[in-house]
Amino acid sequence: MLRVLKFGGTSVGTLERIDNVAQIIKKFIDAGDKIVAVVSAMSGETNKLLEYASHFSNDPVKKELDMLLSSGERVTSALLSIALNDMKIKATSMSGREAGITTDDCYTYARIEHIDTKNLINSLDNSNVIIVAGFQGISKDTSRVTTLGRGGSDLTAVALAGALSADVCEIYTDVDGIYTTDPRIEPKAKKLNKISYDEMLELASLGAKVLQNRSVEMAKKLNVNLISRSSFTPEIEGTLITKEENIMEKPVVSGIALDRNQVRVGMYGVADKPGIASSIFTALADDNINVDMIVQTVGNDGKTNLDFTIPTADLESTKKVMEKFQKDTQDIDYNDSVCKVSIVGVGMKSHTGVASKAFTALAKDNINIRIISTSEIKISMIIEEKYAELAVRSLHDAYDLDK
Ligand code: ADP
Ligand code: ASP
Ligand code: MG
Repeated sequence: MLRVLKFGGTSVGTLERIDNVAQIIKKFIDAGDKIVAVVSAMSGETNKLLEYASHFSNDPVKKELDMLLSSGERVTSALLSIALNDMKIKATSMSGREAGITTDDCYTYARIEHIDTKNLINSLDNSNVIIVAGFQGISKDTSRVTTLGRGGSDLTAVALAGALSADVCEIYTDVDGIYTTDPRIEPKAKKLNKISYDEMLELASLGAKVLQNRSVEMAKKLNVNLISRSSFTPEIEGTLITKEENIMEKPVVSGIALDRNQVRVGMYGVADKPGIASSIFTALADDNINVDMIVQTVGNDGKTNLDFTIPTADLESTKKVMEKFQKDTQDIDYNDSVCKVSIVGVGMKSHTGVASKAFTALAKDNINIRIISTSEIKISMIIEEKYAELAVRSLHDAYDLDK
C-alpha cells in the first residue's frame, strides 16, 4: 500500500517529536507499506523566519521570502531522514524541486501547476520512505523556489497523493480529527467520523486551520482519500474527508468556524451613482486583495454606505488602494477588532429556520451582528472580536452539536 503521510509543525516541533514520527513511519514500513512523508517546519520556525525578515524590511521582497521560508521544511525533512536511516530504514529526503513540484510564480502564495513524479517513483524503488519538504515548489518560469501559502504542507501532501494515486493521504496534527468546532475553544466539541469535502472546504476557508483550504479543494478535485488524525495518539482513528454520497447521516449543521483575521472597512456617504462599486472593487482586485463580505445601503439622502471585509494581512495594501476613493466619500474607517463566525452544513440546503436560530443565539448573549452573508451551506456573521469565543460556544449549543 502506498501512503502519503503529512506531519505538521507540532508533530515535528522538537527532536523527540521527530523521533516519534520516525516510529509511526516504522510501523507502516514493518507492515510492508511504501511511504511518502511530507513534513512542515518545526513549530514556530516559519514565524521566526518571517520575524527575521521584518527586521530588515516592512515589505520584504517576496521571492526572497520564499527562499527564506522554504528552508524550515528542508531542515525537518533531512532530520527525519537521518533518524530513519539510523534505524536501518532506507529513507531519502527531497526538496519540492526534487519531488518535481512546479508552480506559477506568485511568490508566497504559489499555485501548483504540475507534478513530475519520475524522480519520486524511481526513488521509491530504492528507498522505502521518501521525505518531501512541504509547502514549496519551483516556478516553471523562473526556476526559483516558491511557497504555497501558510499551511501549505497540507497541499503538498494532497497533491502528491493525487499525482502518485496513493491509497490514502493521512494528515497528522495535534488533534485527533475534525471536530464540530475548534476543541481549544469549545471543549464540548465532538469529533466527526466523516465530513464531506464541501463542508470541510467551507470550514477551512472560514477559519478552521486544521486543514489548509486549498488542500481540501485539491482533495475533492482528485478524489483523494483524506484523513485527519493525531501524531500524539496515532492509535486513534481520525476523520475521513470524503464525497457527500459516502455520508449517510447529514446533520443540518456540521460545524462552527471562527476567523479572527478580518477587518471591516466602512465607507460612509458615498455618492449614489452607477460605477462606484465597480471602480472600488476592481481596484482592490487588481491588487490581489481578497474582498469577502459586501453590504451596501442607500439612505434617504441619496448617499450610500458601503461595508466590506478583507483579511487582516491585506490591511496596509487596502488603505493604499482606498486613498484614491477618499474624494468620493465623507469618511472611511477600518475596524480590525472584528471576527467572523460561521455555521456550516450541507443539510441547510433543505431546512428552514437555520439562520434565525443563529441570530437568536447571539441576541441572547447581547452580541451585535454587523454583517451577515449566506450561501447554500453556510451562514457567516461579522461580530466584535471580544465576543468570538462566546459566540462560537453559543452557536455550538444552539445547534446541539455536543449531542
Ligand atoms: P499543523 O501544525 O499540524 O498543520 P494546525 O495548527 O495548522 O496544525 O491545525 C491544527 C489546529 O486546528 C488544532 O490544534 C485546532 O486548534 C485547530 N482547529 C480549528 N478548527 C478545528 C476543528 N474544527 N477541528 C479540529 N481542529 C481545529
Ligand atoms: N511551515 C508553513 C507554515 O507554518 C507551512 C506548513 O506548516 O504547512 O505555514
Ligand atoms: Mg496546518
